[in-house]
Amino acid sequence: MHDVVIIGGGPGGYAAALYAHNFGLSVALVEKERVGGTCLIRGCIPAKTWLETASVYQTVARSEEFGVRSTPPTLDWPAALARKNQVVEGLVNGLSGLLKSRGVEIHTGVGRLVSGGVEVTGSDGSKTTLQAKATVVATGSVPRSIPGYDIDGIRIVTSDQALDWERQPRRVAVIGAGAIGAEFASMLADVGSEVYLFEALDQIIPGMEPAAAKTLGRAFRKKGIKVKTGVQVGAPNLSGPSVVVPVGNESVEVDVVLVAVGRAPVTEDVGLDAMGIATDRGFVEVNRETMQTTDPSVYAVGDIVAGTPQLAHVAFGEAIAAITYIATGAVAPVDYRAIPMIVYTHPEAASVGLTEAQAIERGIEIEVTDHGMRGVGRAIIHGETGGMVKIVAEKDGPIIGATVVDPIAGEIIHELMYAVGWEALPAEAAAFIHAHPTISEGIGETLLAAAGRPLH
Ligand code: FAD
Repeated sequence: MHDVVIIGGGPGGYAAALYAHNFGLSVALVEKERVGGTCLIRGCIPAKTWLETASVYQTVARSEEFGVRSTPPTLDWPAALARKNQVVEGLVNGLSGLLKSRGVEIHTGVGRLVSGGVEVTGSDGSKTTLQAKATVVATGSVPRSIPGYDIDGIRIVTSDQALDWERQPRRVAVIGAGAIGAEFASMLADVGSEVYLFEALDQIIPGMEPAAAKTLGRAFRKKGIKVKTGVQVGAPNLSGPSVVVPVGNESVEVDVVLVAVGRAPVTEDVGLDAMGIATDRGFVEVNRETMQTTDPSVYAVGDIVAGTPQLAHVAFGEAIAAITYIATGAVAPVDYRAIPMIVYTHPEAASVGLTEAQAIERGIEIEVTDHGMRGVGRAIIHGETGGMVKIVAEKDGPIIGATVVDPIAGEIIHELMYAVGWEALPAEAAAFIHAHPTISEGIGETLLAAAGRPLH
């Protein structure tokens, strides 16, 4: 009998397995492929590795601006793909070693909840049952598509295949301008592909501060991405060698369509229904304090959880919450008010807490402060002055939300994460002096302005 059996070895599952070590729990982890999940194998890590290649390419392409002569860069796509694979392998192997060193028993096979534990079906059809005091379901998500766009993996693809393209696509239409679609569009345009980005809603990165989406849209257009928002694509014409995508009254001809319209939870064949566990359109309903499902001995974490963001770090936090409760009976819930959300495009867009519109919708009286990066010394040094900072605070109250656009926004957003999480007043946060010259000074200036004492 194990203390905990976990189904799924992605960020939710592997974090639960690793964290259980702190309490001396005996753990078995069931994974049908390799440990690492979407994030390490087909998500965060490979996507950001491709973005890094694009960033290096652009650094070389712009070198003369900085007084460094070089020949125009050429992309060795197979070498970049090999590097991506090497980064992924390194992390997956490191994770496997870490799990083993923590005494986690890894079972390769398909896991299914059964009364009192988990049934594991191996690739040869053999079945074993692992008895457990508690089970954690962390089966993650897979890409969705839209009607007419059947994923063939060649001309109509999702991020799963796009991360492994063997050669650079010349013309790409990306459908869906959420974080995943926008990141691919940014990466491909930066290395010279012709990119169309279509979004049904009225802004790219729906849900993000409109000012930040506009700033990012400007940067996208500058790099040649043809962005169209508020459009529905029609069914593609695949009769010729290329793909013709109807958009409104027009159509565009591309070599490949990347569908990035969201991710569906993997909960169908996990035994949730048979156990009478409540779901909402496939997502698992949980008590967000403990991560317990409607069956108190079964926990759910990560992308399958109803109503929480599908992000690796959210999965980590939920795993910690579940394991803490299993081991100690104490609650250690995720603070969903202060989760950083990062779009790793170039430039990056990062936010935490509420946007201005969300605060107004909740009837909160607010004060909003905006600041551009134009006058920030380090931004001028970087040659990247198009960014911005926006801070939303309750009127005469704490900071409740913030957004930053800058090539390193994803790094510096964390100081605002603490401000939101600790409910700091603008004046309290502004009392600390930011180092000069840094991009973070853009935040410092915004905080001073939000406190009613602007400096520059
Ligand atoms: P998953 O990572 O999907 O893992 C689930 C695991 O369960 C898989 O390994 C699967 O094989 C296994 N499994 C499923 N069913 C069974 C079963 N019955 N038996 C055994 N094993 C099973 N998030 C970020 O925070 N930052 C990013 O930058 C970021 N970038 C992304 C880029 C892309 C292109 C994509 C697609 C996603 C990105 N994400 C990012 C999202 C992130 O990958 C997910 O939020 C995260 O992986 C969710 O973790 P999880 O453990 O819930 O599920």
